[in-house]
Amino acid sequence: MNCNNWINNAEVEPKSGEYMDVTSPSTGEAIGKCAVSNSADVEAAIAGASSAFPAWSGLTMKARAGIMLKFYSLVKAHADTLAECIVKENGKNITEGLADVAKGLETVEYAISLPQVAQGKSLTVSRGINCTDTRRPLGVVAAIVPFNFPFMVPMWTVPISLVLGNTVVLKPSEKCPMTLNLVRDLIVEAGFPAGVWQMVNGTRECCEALIDSPLVKAVSFVGSSPIAKSVSVRCHGLNKRVIALGGAKNHLIALKDADLEGTTRDVVASFAGASGQRCMAASVLLVVGENDELINNIVQRAGELKLGTDKGEMGPVIDGHSFKKINSYLEASEASGAKLLLDGRSKEVPKNGGNWIGPTVILHEKGSDKALHDEIFGPVLSILKVKTWQDAIAIENANPFGNAACIYTSKGGSADWFTQRFMAGMLGVNIGIPVPREPFAFGGLYGTLSKYGDGDITGEGAIEFFSTRIKITTRWPVPVEEEFEPEAPLSD
Ligand code: NAD
Repeated sequence: MNCNNWINNAEVEPKSGEYMDVTSPSTGEAIGKCAVSNSADVEAAIAGASSAFPAWSGLTMKARAGIMLKFYSLVKAHADTLAECIVKENGKNITEGLADVAKGLETVEYAISLPQVAQGKSLTVSRGINCTDTRRPLGVVAAIVPFNFPFMVPMWTVPISLVLGNTVVLKPSEKCPMTLNLVRDLIVEAGFPAGVWQMVNGTRECCEALIDSPLVKAVSFVGSSPIAKSVSVRCHGLNKRVIALGGAKNHLIALKDADLEGTTRDVVASFAGASGQRCMAASVLLVVGENDELINNIVQRAGELKLGTDKGEMGPVIDGHSFKKINSYLEASEASGAKLLLDGRSKEVPKNGGNWIGPTVILHEKGSDKALHDEIFGPVLSILKVKTWQDAIAIENANPFGNAACIYTSKGGSADWFTQRFMAGMLGVNIGIPVPREPFAFGGLYGTLSKYGDGDITGEGAIEFFSTRIKITTRWPVPVEEEFEPEAPLSD
């Protein structure tokens, strides 16, 4: 499949003439080509989006939501095809591919409901004087997305910003551009006018041209922390609205009274699901007190997971770079004296040539091990035993990321103690992937490596982010001849 650009509802080859291979994580073979756009390609996409803005923003919000509703039905009808493409280009298994589509549809649903929740406000402030706080779209919005959820993450930004009246230029991940390539036909069939939803493929040059364009009024970015930070700094230098979600290092804490079976199942699903390539994945398990039974159960259960994308429970990681990076953390951990209770490198792999590595559980001796601190983004769980609750919370709060954290316990008071102290944006009690559902916003804590910029990418905060408020004060004095009797004056 050739992933060209999508400009004004037509497939357009890049002016650069450049393409890069899209490779299968399962086999390492080239399965498609992705355009590598230059700034001229980006300018063409932005110009089309800018021309489409007046007519699109001139429609009622209800009319825009109606088109989004059609899009929703079309995605539902094509969910299997989209999920199969996610399996092919991203390496998820089919259940995870379908979940990627289903989760993406949740924000489409929220976007469809915006006419019910995104109104302005009005108040009579004095006799004959009204103040109205109206909501207006911003103009052209850019969305730059990562590889790990080829459908869901783009759906965080595009539907909400479109229903609010913006036009969008979306930059898919160059590692997984094929799923969005399939969405193009659905954009036309749903009835989005030309220019409203554009897509340009490419890498750094393309992203920087998008950010720098004066016609782009806001940028949403999701990806690794160093790039999230650079996007945020670049946008702020241009006085541009930006939300940039970065990486994660999520800590789970297990107390002695945690339910053994439930905790085991949940911790394994959290660290090994999607091969650990989720910003919500468990990275570190802090076991408070002696609880070898829990550790043994986790190792046993994770060891039973079958690799594979068709009938398997866990797929490969995205590319050779990621594979090498994960291996380097396993080697460094061994060298520092940590014990690999489960070594994914020795797991039998279903196909040759891909980036396969099995679930891995490391028991650390030293709190300074790099694997305990850096984002690895693979199916690796680092376990550290700690003596007290205070030790556990101190370790969690000292980590520079602030995406998610979870406490496993059977006591409500203990759960409260931790949830009041955790320094992360999304907290779980007995749930290792505590993703808030709409209308609650997804995202980590500002001031950490997990979140830069302003506002929220989904939920109520996204309504504020993707629109601006204009205040209108009007005076319409009642004509004297219509005043039948004097009224009591309104007073402040
Ligand atoms: P990445 O940072 O390598 O790439 C993300 C996007 O940024 C891609 O589309 C890429 O083309 C683009 N890009 C590259 N250079 C750029 C530049 N200089 N300026 C602007 N954009 C640039 O991330 P990835 O490997 O695709 O995805 C994995 C990362 O995403 C992990 O760190 C993961 O934690 C993070 N992630 C975070 C969340 C969250 O909600 N916090 C969600 C999903 C993924």
